[in-house]
Amino acid sequence: MPGHERNNDRNDVSSYVRDIMTHGVVTAAVDATVAEVVAIMNNAGVGAAVIIEDDGSASGIFTERDLLLKIIDADFDIDKTPVRDVMTSQPQTIDADARLSTLWPRINEWGFRHIPVVAEGALVGMLSLRDVFRLRLWNMEIQLDQEIRSLQHLRSLLQLNTDERAKELLRINERLSELALTDDLTGLYNHRYLVRRLQEEVSRSQRTKTELSLLFVDIDRFKQVNDAYGHVAGDQVLRRFADILRNTVEGGSVLARIRRHDVVARYGGEEFALLLPITGTDAAMVVAERVRNTVATTPLRFDDGREIHVTVSIGVATLPLHGCSEEALLVAADEALYRAKSAGRNRVEQARDVSGK
Ligand code: GH3
Ligand code: MG
Ligand code: MG
Repeated sequence: MPGHERNNDRNDVSSYVRDIMTHGVVTAAVDATVAEVVAIMNNAGVGAAVIIEDDGSASGIFTERDLLLKIIDADFDIDKTPVRDVMTSQPQTIDADARLSTLWPRINEWGFRHIPVVAEGALVGMLSLRDVFRLRLWNMEIQLDQEIRSLQHLRSLLQLNTDERAKELLRINERLSELALTDDLTGLYNHRYLVRRLQEEVSRSQRTKTELSLLFVDIDRFKQVNDAYGHVAGDQVLRRFADILRNTVEGGSVLARIRRHDVVARYGGEEFALLLPITGTDAAMVVAERVRNTVATTPLRFDDGREIHVTVSIGVATLPLHGCSEEALLVAADEALYRAKSAGRNRVEQARDVSGK
Protein backbone atom coordinates (compact mmCIF):
# COMPACT_ATOMS: atom_id res chain seq x y z
CA MET A 1 0.00 0.00 0.00
CA PRO A 2 1.73 3.18 -1.12
CA GLY A 3 2.19 5.84 1.49
CA HIS A 4 2.06 3.36 4.32
CA GLU A 5 5.26 2.60 6.22
CA ARG A 6 4.53 -0.95 7.08
CA ASN A 7 6.58 -3.75 8.46
CA ASN A 8 5.27 -7.05 7.23
CA ASP A 9 7.21 -9.20 9.66
CA ARG A 10 4.51 -9.96 12.17
CA ASN A 11 7.00 -10.78 14.91
CA ASP A 12 8.24 -7.24 14.71
CA VAL A 13 4.87 -5.57 14.85
CA SER A 14 4.50 -3.86 18.17
CA SER A 15 5.41 -6.70 20.44
CA TYR A 16 5.86 -4.60 23.55
CA VAL A 17 3.59 -2.35 25.57
CA ARG A 18 5.82 0.67 24.92
CA ASP A 19 5.30 0.32 21.17
CA ILE A 20 1.58 0.91 21.26
CA MET A 21 0.91 2.87 24.45
CA THR A 22 -0.08 6.52 24.43
CA HIS A 23 3.04 8.36 25.56
CA GLY A 24 1.75 11.55 27.10
CA VAL A 25 -0.02 10.72 30.34
CA VAL A 26 -2.72 13.14 31.46
CA THR A 27 -2.30 13.88 35.14
CA ALA A 28 -4.23 15.89 37.73
CA ALA A 29 -3.49 16.87 41.31
CA VAL A 30 -5.02 14.84 44.07
CA ASP A 31 -6.71 17.97 45.52
CA ALA A 32 -8.52 18.84 42.29
CA THR A 33 -12.28 18.49 42.14
CA VAL A 34 -13.92 15.97 39.84
CA ALA A 35 -15.15 18.84 37.64
CA GLU A 36 -11.56 20.10 37.20
CA VAL A 37 -10.24 16.65 36.34
CA VAL A 38 -13.05 16.08 33.84
CA ALA A 39 -12.18 19.41 32.19
CA ILE A 40 -8.51 18.36 31.93
CA MET A 41 -9.48 15.01 30.40
CA ASN A 42 -11.87 16.69 28.00
CA ASN A 43 -9.21 19.14 26.81
CA ALA A 44 -6.74 16.34 26.19
CA GLY A 45 -9.38 14.13 24.57
CA VAL A 46 -8.62 11.15 26.80
CA GLY A 47 -10.79 8.89 28.93
CA ALA A 48 -8.60 8.66 32.01
CA ALA A 49 -6.20 10.70 34.12
CA VAL A 50 -3.56 9.59 36.57
CA ILE A 51 -3.96 11.39 39.89
CA ILE A 52 -0.68 12.48 41.43
CA GLU A 53 0.43 13.61 44.89
CA ASP A 54 2.37 16.84 45.50
CA ASP A 55 5.67 14.93 45.24
CA GLY A 56 4.72 13.68 41.77
CA SER A 57 4.08 10.08 42.77
CA ALA A 58 0.97 8.42 41.32
CA SER A 59 -1.74 7.84 43.86
CA GLY A 60 -4.63 6.73 41.70
CA ILE A 61 -6.42 6.72 38.39
CA PHE A 62 -9.71 8.41 37.49
CA THR A 63 -11.62 7.14 34.48
CA GLU A 64 -14.85 7.87 32.64
CA ARG A 65 -16.28 4.81 34.30
CA ASP A 66 -15.66 6.25 37.78
CA LEU A 67 -17.50 9.39 36.66
CA LEU A 68 -20.51 7.48 35.32
CA LEU A 69 -20.82 5.49 38.53
CA LYS A 70 -20.89 8.74 40.52
CA ILE A 71 -23.30 10.64 38.31
CA ILE A 72 -26.14 8.27 39.20
CA ASP A 73 -25.43 8.91 42.86
CA ALA A 74 -27.89 11.60 44.12
CA ASP A 75 -25.46 13.17 46.64
CA PHE A 76 -22.72 13.64 44.11
CA ASP A 77 -21.65 17.24 43.46
CA ILE A 78 -19.18 17.33 40.60
CA ASP A 79 -17.87 20.82 41.55
CA LYS A 80 -17.27 20.03 45.21
CA THR A 81 -16.22 16.38 45.36
CA PRO A 82 -12.43 16.03 45.43
CA VAL A 83 -11.17 13.50 42.91
CA ARG A 84 -9.36 11.57 45.66
CA ASP A 85 -12.79 10.41 46.94
CA VAL A 86 -13.82 8.78 43.69
CA MET A 87 -10.58 7.68 42.04
CA THR A 88 -9.30 4.12 42.07
CA SER A 89 -6.37 4.05 44.49
CA GLN A 90 -3.30 1.92 43.80
CA PRO A 91 -4.44 1.05 40.28
CA GLN A 92 -3.14 -1.95 38.37
CA THR A 93 -0.10 -0.89 36.31
CA ILE A 94 1.90 -2.67 33.63
CA ASP A 95 5.54 -2.50 32.65
CA ALA A 96 6.50 -0.73 29.43
CA ASP A 97 8.69 -3.70 28.49
CA ALA A 98 6.01 -6.33 29.07
CA ARG A 99 5.22 -8.43 26.01
CA LEU A 100 1.76 -7.77 24.62
CA SER A 101 1.21 -11.46 23.95
CA THR A 102 1.44 -12.22 27.68
CA LEU A 103 -0.78 -9.26 28.46
CA TRP A 104 -3.92 -9.95 26.37
CA PRO A 105 -5.36 -12.55 28.75
CA ARG A 106 -4.74 -10.31 31.76
CA ILE A 107 -6.29 -7.20 30.21
CA ASN A 108 -9.30 -9.33 29.33
CA GLU A 109 -9.57 -10.71 32.82
CA TRP A 110 -9.26 -7.29 34.49
CA GLY A 111 -11.76 -5.67 32.15
CA PHE A 112 -9.91 -2.34 32.48
CA ARG A 113 -10.12 0.25 29.74
CA HIS A 114 -7.11 2.29 30.86
CA ILE A 115 -3.94 0.98 32.46
CA PRO A 116 -1.02 3.23 33.50
CA VAL A 117 2.33 2.10 32.09
CA VAL A 118 5.46 2.30 34.24
CA ALA A 119 9.16 1.92 33.54
CA GLU A 120 11.68 1.73 36.37
CA GLY A 121 9.04 2.92 38.82
CA ALA A 122 8.14 6.06 36.85
CA LEU A 123 4.90 6.67 34.98
CA VAL A 124 5.65 6.73 31.22
CA GLY A 125 2.36 6.25 29.43
CA MET A 126 -1.14 4.89 29.31
CA LEU A 127 -2.41 1.78 27.56
CA SER A 128 -6.04 2.10 26.56
CA LEU A 129 -8.44 -0.26 24.87
CA ARG A 130 -8.28 2.08 21.90
CA ASP A 131 -4.53 1.39 21.52
CA VAL A 132 -5.25 -2.32 21.67
CA PHE A 133 -8.00 -2.17 19.04
CA ARG A 134 -5.79 -0.09 16.76
CA LEU A 135 -3.06 -2.73 16.93
CA ARG A 136 -5.52 -5.56 16.30
CA LEU A 137 -6.86 -3.72 13.28
CA TRP A 138 -3.37 -3.11 12.00
CA ASN A 139 -2.43 -6.79 12.32
CA MET A 140 -5.63 -7.79 10.52
CA GLU A 141 -4.76 -5.46 7.65
CA ILE A 142 -1.31 -6.97 7.39
CA GLN A 143 -2.80 -10.47 7.24
CA LEU A 144 -5.21 -9.29 4.59
CA ASP A 145 -2.30 -7.89 2.57
CA GLN A 146 -0.58 -11.25 2.75
CA GLU A 147 -3.72 -13.16 1.76
CA ILE A 148 -4.23 -10.86 -1.21
CA ARG A 149 -0.66 -11.35 -2.32
CA SER A 150 -0.88 -15.13 -2.17
CA LEU A 151 -4.20 -15.09 -4.05
CA GLN A 152 -2.62 -12.92 -6.73
CA HIS A 153 0.18 -15.46 -6.99
CA LEU A 154 -2.34 -18.29 -7.36
CA ARG A 155 -4.14 -16.37 -10.10
CA SER A 156 -0.92 -15.88 -12.05
CA LEU A 157 -0.27 -19.59 -11.67
CA LEU A 158 -3.61 -20.41 -13.30
CA GLN A 159 -2.64 -18.29 -16.28
CA LEU A 160 0.43 -20.40 -17.01
CA ASN A 161 0.30 -23.40 -19.35
CA THR A 162 0.35 -26.90 -17.88
CA ASP A 163 4.10 -27.44 -18.12
CA GLU A 164 4.96 -24.11 -16.60
CA ARG A 165 2.36 -24.66 -13.90
CA ALA A 166 3.81 -28.03 -12.94
CA LYS A 167 7.30 -26.54 -12.75
CA GLU A 168 6.12 -23.61 -10.67
CA LEU A 169 4.23 -25.90 -8.29
CA LEU A 170 7.33 -28.05 -7.83
CA ARG A 171 9.36 -24.95 -7.09
CA ILE A 172 6.84 -23.72 -4.51
CA ASN A 173 6.71 -27.14 -2.95
CA GLU A 174 10.47 -27.29 -2.60
CA ARG A 175 10.55 -23.83 -1.13
CA LEU A 176 7.86 -24.74 1.41
CA SER A 177 9.66 -27.81 2.70
CA GLU A 178 12.88 -25.84 2.81
CA LEU A 179 11.20 -23.11 4.86
CA ALA A 180 9.95 -25.57 7.42
CA LEU A 181 13.41 -27.02 7.96
CA THR A 182 15.60 -23.96 7.93
CA ASP A 183 16.22 -21.20 10.38
CA ASP A 184 14.86 -17.81 9.26
CA LEU A 185 17.78 -15.72 10.45
CA THR A 186 20.73 -17.75 9.21
CA GLY A 187 19.29 -20.06 6.57
CA LEU A 188 21.00 -23.01 8.27
CA TYR A 189 19.00 -26.10 9.19
CA ASN A 190 16.85 -25.52 12.24
CA HIS A 191 16.49 -27.32 15.54
CA ARG A 192 13.61 -29.46 14.24
CA TYR A 193 15.67 -30.75 11.31
CA LEU A 194 18.67 -31.45 13.52
CA VAL A 195 16.61 -33.52 15.94
CA ARG A 196 15.06 -35.47 13.07
CA ARG A 197 18.42 -36.17 11.45
CA LEU A 198 19.97 -37.09 14.79
CA GLN A 199 17.31 -39.78 15.23
CA GLU A 200 17.96 -41.15 11.76
CA GLU A 201 21.73 -41.04 12.05
CA VAL A 202 21.78 -42.67 15.49
CA SER A 203 19.76 -45.64 14.26
CA ARG A 204 21.84 -45.84 11.11
CA SER A 205 25.07 -45.87 13.12
CA GLN A 206 23.73 -48.56 15.43
CA ARG A 207 22.62 -50.65 12.47
CA THR A 208 25.81 -50.28 10.48
CA LYS A 209 28.13 -50.21 13.51
CA THR A 210 29.70 -46.92 12.46
CA GLU A 211 30.63 -43.93 14.55
CA LEU A 212 28.69 -40.65 14.64
CA SER A 213 29.94 -37.38 16.12
CA LEU A 214 28.02 -34.39 17.40
CA LEU A 215 29.57 -30.95 17.96
CA PHE A 216 27.93 -28.21 20.01
CA VAL A 217 29.32 -24.83 19.03
CA ASP A 218 28.46 -21.85 21.26
CA ILE A 219 29.60 -18.29 20.63
CA ASP A 220 31.54 -16.92 23.59
CA ARG A 221 30.17 -13.99 25.54
CA PHE A 222 27.66 -13.20 22.83
CA LYS A 223 25.52 -11.25 25.24
CA GLN A 224 28.31 -8.65 25.32
CA VAL A 225 28.08 -8.26 21.52
CA ASN A 226 24.38 -7.47 21.85
CA ASP A 227 25.00 -5.15 24.78
CA ALA A 228 27.74 -3.27 22.95
CA TYR A 229 26.26 -3.07 19.44
CA GLY A 230 22.54 -3.81 19.83
CA HIS A 231 20.38 -6.77 18.81
CA VAL A 232 20.18 -5.88 15.12
CA ALA A 233 23.97 -5.87 14.84
CA GLY A 234 23.97 -9.06 16.93
CA ASP A 235 21.73 -10.68 14.32
CA GLN A 236 24.13 -9.62 11.56
CA VAL A 237 26.97 -11.26 13.46
CA LEU A 238 24.93 -14.48 13.72
CA ARG A 239 24.38 -14.40 9.94
CA ARG A 240 28.07 -13.88 9.17
CA PHE A 241 28.97 -16.56 11.66
CA ALA A 242 26.53 -18.97 9.97
CA ASP A 243 28.20 -18.17 6.61
CA ILE A 244 31.52 -19.31 8.03
CA LEU A 245 30.00 -22.58 9.23
CA ARG A 246 28.14 -23.04 5.94
CA ASN A 247 31.26 -22.42 3.86
CA THR A 248 32.96 -25.16 5.75
CA VAL A 249 30.31 -27.47 4.31
CA GLU A 250 29.52 -26.22 0.82
CA GLY A 251 32.74 -24.48 -0.12
CA GLY A 252 34.78 -27.39 1.10
CA SER A 253 37.89 -25.24 0.80
CA VAL A 254 38.03 -24.03 4.37
CA LEU A 255 37.25 -27.37 5.88
CA ALA A 256 37.57 -30.06 3.30
CA ARG A 257 36.95 -32.47 6.14
CA ILE A 258 33.30 -31.54 6.48
CA ARG A 259 31.41 -33.39 3.80
CA ARG A 260 28.09 -32.98 2.05
CA HIS A 261 26.03 -35.28 4.26
CA ASP A 262 27.21 -33.52 7.38
CA VAL A 263 24.55 -31.35 8.99
CA VAL A 264 25.10 -27.78 10.12
CA ALA A 265 22.23 -26.40 12.21
CA ARG A 266 21.30 -23.53 14.43
CA TYR A 267 20.37 -25.25 17.64
CA GLY A 268 18.91 -22.06 19.11
CA GLY A 269 20.07 -18.55 20.02
CA GLU A 270 23.84 -18.41 19.57
CA GLU A 271 24.27 -22.18 19.72
CA PHE A 272 24.98 -24.25 16.66
CA ALA A 273 25.41 -27.97 16.08
CA LEU A 274 27.34 -30.06 13.59
CA LEU A 275 26.36 -33.67 13.03
CA LEU A 276 29.10 -35.75 11.42
CA PRO A 277 28.13 -39.28 10.32
CA ILE A 278 30.80 -41.96 10.01
CA THR A 279 33.23 -39.83 11.98
CA GLY A 280 35.20 -41.01 15.01
CA THR A 281 36.13 -38.82 17.92
CA ASP A 282 39.69 -38.03 16.81
CA ALA A 283 38.50 -36.82 13.41
CA ALA A 284 35.67 -34.87 15.04
CA MET A 285 38.17 -33.17 17.36
CA VAL A 286 40.19 -32.12 14.31
CA VAL A 287 37.05 -30.65 12.69
CA ALA A 288 36.13 -28.88 15.94
CA GLU A 289 39.59 -27.42 16.28
CA ARG A 290 39.49 -26.15 12.68
CA VAL A 291 36.10 -24.53 13.27
CA ARG A 292 37.38 -22.92 16.46
CA ASN A 293 40.48 -21.64 14.70
CA THR A 294 38.64 -20.40 11.59
CA VAL A 295 36.17 -18.46 13.73
CA ALA A 296 38.89 -16.99 15.94
CA THR A 297 40.88 -15.74 12.95
CA THR A 298 38.05 -14.54 10.66
CA PRO A 299 36.67 -11.06 11.32
CA LEU A 300 32.86 -10.76 11.17
CA ARG A 301 31.68 -7.70 9.27
CA PHE A 302 28.61 -5.61 10.17
CA ASP A 303 26.50 -4.19 7.32
CA ASP A 304 28.08 -0.76 7.95
CA GLY A 305 31.59 -2.15 7.42
CA ARG A 306 32.75 -2.35 11.02
CA GLU A 307 34.33 -5.64 12.02
CA ILE A 308 34.48 -7.64 15.19
CA HIS A 309 36.06 -10.90 16.26
CA VAL A 310 34.26 -13.59 18.17
CA THR A 311 35.41 -16.92 19.54
CA VAL A 312 33.57 -20.18 20.10
CA SER A 313 33.63 -22.98 22.61
CA ILE A 314 32.91 -26.46 21.31
CA GLY A 315 31.84 -29.71 22.95
CA VAL A 316 32.43 -32.95 21.02
CA ALA A 317 30.68 -36.27 21.63
CA THR A 318 30.86 -39.49 19.63
CA LEU A 319 28.62 -42.53 19.45
CA PRO A 320 29.24 -45.18 20.76
CA LEU A 321 32.21 -43.95 22.84
CA HIS A 322 30.33 -41.27 24.78
CA GLY A 323 26.79 -42.57 24.61
CA CYS A 324 24.58 -44.86 22.54
CA SER A 325 21.32 -42.91 22.24
CA GLU A 326 20.38 -39.50 20.85
CA GLU A 327 19.71 -38.31 24.35
CA ALA A 328 23.06 -39.56 25.69
CA LEU A 329 24.91 -37.95 22.79
CA LEU A 330 23.19 -34.59 23.33
CA VAL A 331 23.92 -34.67 27.06
CA ALA A 332 27.55 -35.65 26.50
CA ALA A 333 28.18 -32.88 23.94
CA ASP A 334 26.51 -30.36 26.21
CA GLU A 335 28.57 -31.42 29.20
CA ALA A 336 31.78 -31.13 27.15
CA LEU A 337 30.73 -27.67 25.98
CA TYR A 338 30.13 -26.66 29.56
CA ARG A 339 33.67 -27.74 30.45
CA ALA A 340 35.09 -25.77 27.51
CA LYS A 341 33.33 -22.68 28.89
CA SER A 342 34.54 -23.26 32.44
CA ALA A 343 38.09 -23.80 31.26
CA GLY A 344 38.22 -20.29 29.80
CA ARG A 345 36.33 -20.41 26.44
CA ASN A 346 37.77 -20.37 22.88
CA ARG A 347 38.39 -24.08 23.48
CA VAL A 348 37.36 -27.54 22.31
CA GLU A 349 36.56 -30.24 24.83
CA GLN A 350 35.78 -33.89 24.29
CA ALA A 351 33.04 -35.70 26.21
CA ARG A 352 33.99 -38.15 28.93
CA ASP A 353 33.58 -41.71 27.70
CA VAL A 354 30.85 -43.83 29.21
CA SER A 355 33.30 -46.02 31.08
CA GLY A 356 34.02 -42.93 33.19
CA LYS A 357 37.40 -41.84 31.75
P1 GH3 B 1 28.88 -17.73 27.14
O1 GH3 B 1 30.29 -17.48 26.73
O2 GH3 B 1 28.76 -18.30 28.51
O3 GH3 B 1 28.15 -18.57 26.14
O4 GH3 B 1 28.18 -16.29 27.21
P2 GH3 B 1 27.00 -15.76 26.31
O5 GH3 B 1 26.80 -14.32 26.61
O6 GH3 B 1 27.23 -16.09 24.89
O7 GH3 B 1 25.82 -16.68 26.81
P3 GH3 B 1 24.40 -16.41 27.39
O8 GH3 B 1 23.68 -17.72 27.26
O9 GH3 B 1 24.47 -15.76 28.73
O10 GH3 B 1 23.73 -15.36 26.42
C1 GH3 B 1 23.41 -15.67 25.11
C2 GH3 B 1 23.04 -14.41 24.43
O11 GH3 B 1 22.72 -14.63 23.10
C3 GH3 B 1 21.85 -13.75 25.09
C4 GH3 B 1 20.97 -13.36 23.95
O12 GH3 B 1 20.71 -11.99 24.02
C5 GH3 B 1 21.78 -13.66 22.71
N1 GH3 B 1 20.95 -14.17 21.63
C6 GH3 B 1 20.31 -15.35 21.58
N2 GH3 B 1 19.62 -15.45 20.43
C7 GH3 B 1 19.82 -14.32 19.72
C8 GH3 B 1 19.37 -13.80 18.45
O13 GH3 B 1 18.62 -14.45 17.71
N3 GH3 B 1 19.81 -12.57 18.09
C9 GH3 B 1 20.64 -11.84 18.87
N4 GH3 B 1 21.04 -10.64 18.44
N5 GH3 B 1 21.06 -12.28 20.06
C10 GH3 B 1 20.67 -13.50 20.50
MG1 MG C 1 27.28 -18.13 24.30
MG1 MG D 1 24.45 -20.24 24.79
